Amino acid sequence: MNRFLSFFLAVFFWAGCKPAGKPLRVKPGKLLVCAVNYPLAYFAERIGGDLIEVHFPKIDGDPAFWKPSRVDIRKFQQADVILLNGATYAKWRGTASLPDSKTVDTSADFQDPLLPVKVEVEHQHGKEGEHSHAGTAFTTWLDLKQAGQQAKAIRDALVKRLPDSQPILDENFSALNKELSEVEAELSEVAEKFGQTPLVGSHPVYQYLARGYDLNIISVHWEPSVMPDAAGWEALSNLRKKHPAKIMLWEEEPAKEIVEKLKELGVASVVFNPCGNRHRSLDWLAVMRTNISRLGAGPPKQ
Ligand SMILES: [Zn+2]
Repeated sequence: MNRFLSFFLAVFFWAGCKPAGKPLRVKPGKLLVCAVNYPLAYFAERIGGDLIEVHFPKIDGDPAFWKPSRVDIRKFQQADVILLNGATYAKWRGTASLPDSKTVDTSADFQDPLLPVKVEVEHQHGKEGEHSHAGTAFTTWLDLKQAGQQAKAIRDALVKRLPDSQPILDENFSALNKELSEVEAELSEVAEKFGQTPLVGSHPVYQYLARGYDLNIISVHWEPSVMPDAAGWEALSNLRKKHPAKIMLWEEEPAKEIVEKLKELGVASVVFNPCGNRHRSLDWLAVMRTNISRLGAGPPKQ
């Protein structure tokens, strides 16, 4: 009896200990799906439901510029499906070998071409140090039509691996797609009100939002928590001579002193969070809805 009990305790103890370096343990019968950003993880969770286990690592900062450890990469290599964003997202891809048979480039079937990044002001230090957006714009999902295509690519990949579960995967995808279409309609309506009103993006992440909804956005490269230097402010003032924006879009709430200084210049700060990373309390669609209602409210009363 004693021996039986100690065996039991040992099993319990072992099951409760999951050091970070240990391989991911997946419940039997479940597909392990790894995602490089939160939008893809969210779509996978919605579509796969109980059939899959989604792994999106805890990342401090922008997942696009994440530098995974060897242990982190091991976890991705273990997955049954690896969801990539494409569009040069996840810069770490170049340094890690991931099996082709498992990777799914969710933006590979886009009809519209990917966009290049145009930045007015380069070089700002953020919490991840200096980083560059030179090359291809990667926040593809901010055109919600493209987000829908990425969700569809995930549905297709899951159906391929779980053909017997196609009806439930289709049903889950339809429910998600319906919500995406509703949010997309709201965004189109808000964007229409703006017409060609000039807007400034604080960070070069709004290219697909601008193209998808015909918004007139030019971006600088500022960080919400870093007061721009004199050159940064001068560049903004020069930009506003040709592009007289009264609203600056931010990825997250900017520092108070930046908000105040912008206000003095007649520029209101509005948060439009691309939500590439997990939000502290809201899911991806809720963040999009919040973005749209903030944008719809226009500049806050000065
Ligand atoms: Zn950046």
